[in-house]
Amino acid sequence: MPNERELIAKLGQIFGKAPKQVLCGIGDDTAVFWPDEEYILLWTIDSLIEGVHFDLSHTSLKLLGRKALAVNLSDIAAMGGEPQYALLALGWPPQRDLQGALELAAGMQEMAREYGTVLIGGDTVGSPQGLTISLTVLGRVKPTELLRRNGAKAGDLIYVTGPLGQAAAGLELLRHKLELPEEDKNLVLQSFLDPQPEVVAGRLLARHQLATSLIDLSDGVASDLYQICLSSQTGAVVEAERVPITEAVKMVAALTAQDPLDLALKGGEDYRLLFTSAPDKKTEVKKCFAQANLPEPCCIGRIISGKEVRLRSASREVEISGTGFDHFPSGASRIG
Ligand SMILES: [Mg+2]
Repeated sequence: MPNERELIAKLGQIFGKAPKQVLCGIGDDTAVFWPDEEYILLWTIDSLIEGVHFDLSHTSLKLLGRKALAVNLSDIAAMGGEPQYALLALGWPPQRDLQGALELAAGMQEMAREYGTVLIGGDTVGSPQGLTISLTVLGRVKPTELLRRNGAKAGDLIYVTGPLGQAAAGLELLRHKLELPEEDKNLVLQSFLDPQPEVVAGRLLARHQLATSLIDLSDGVASDLYQICLSSQTGAVVEAERVPITEAVKMVAALTAQDPLDLALKGGEDYRLLFTSAPDKKTEVKKCFAQANLPEPCCIGRIISGKEVRLRSASREVEISGTGFDHFPSGASRIG
């Protein structure tokens, strides 16, 4: 079993050599890099706590490493940016084999490489209360391409970049040990355990100036669209029959006696992007995504004046503002 010094040396090997803009990577007191002059920096942090955000009876350390980085990359994608560097603070329980830290790092490095990100430093500590992973990611974007939550205007169309509720369905499947056809099972499990951050879609929206506002779906449409509405001082209507829901999600909903729309709109951790776009950009949105070989975004509704997020179906209309997954049910909520 490696000691801490050996662990850091091994982690350094896993994360590899830093690019030339990085003057010091792992192994000095801080990481040092040259910023790029025409860009502004994006800076985000996300923490995953054992027992709160993950359950190691559901996932492997390697997948956990991938996901820990993916959720941060998703936040960079949600600003229209490209991720560059990451810093890791790892709290490792003394009773857990340190070899596992290397598996976690290997998963993280795999995800980092897929999205052009380099881990350039961090810290490891003993954590008597369970495994904790805190990752800081730095990204960059040109000032003219920055996409925020506050630009939605009444009349804009609301799009999501993929089917919804799959991660929530994956969690339900694990919790209740549900049986689904193999393909459907893999689909929802992958969505929950190994989400793919939509960095390419975020960059596309930014580069082609297609979106008026952008957010990543970490807490569910009901909550995340509401964040856009709060920032933009607008309301929104979501059309129930336009919400993209896969057969796999419908099956999980049926097996757990839930409305599939609840999984789709209130389930967290899909990490798709939700954006608003002027109606006259509709053809361009479709064309740009097709040219980039990305699935066509799905229009689920429209921004309206007002303050509420409303869900409209043929039979009724209800308010769903902010009814997504909440890590702090007492009232406080996540900020990023
Ligand atoms: Mg976010």
